[in-house]
Amino acid sequence: MASQEKHYIEASDILGVRFDCKACRASLSLKLWDDIKLVKCPAGCEETWFEAPKSPLRDSIKSFMDHVLSLPRPESDKKFRVYLEIAPDAAPCDKDARAATEKESGTG
Ligand SMILES: [Zn+2]
Repeated sequence: MASQEKHYIEASDILGVRFDCKACRASLSLKLWDDIKLVKCPAGCEETWFEAPKSPLRDSIKSFMDHVLSLPRPESDKKFRVYLEIAPDAAPCDKDARAATEKESGTG
């Protein structure tokens, strides 16, 4: 009988999202509670990331971030914990993306 290993992370382990520009490889990290207001690459390469002024994709990403934030935390009084399954071969992203626009957000 074949067995399959599954890998999970707790929802509370997701802290934010990172955008990498395919054109200039700059990266932008946002915390889950941050707003996504940008339209173009923030590093100044002028690559358009989202349609302006309304972007269904940007709204969808922000909605995902909001939903992750709303999942019960381990310390909540819920009688269950929520885990997200990730690919068995998932590995941390490459760290060579330029950090020029890396945003360290502790406020908001
Ligand atoms: Zn760029």
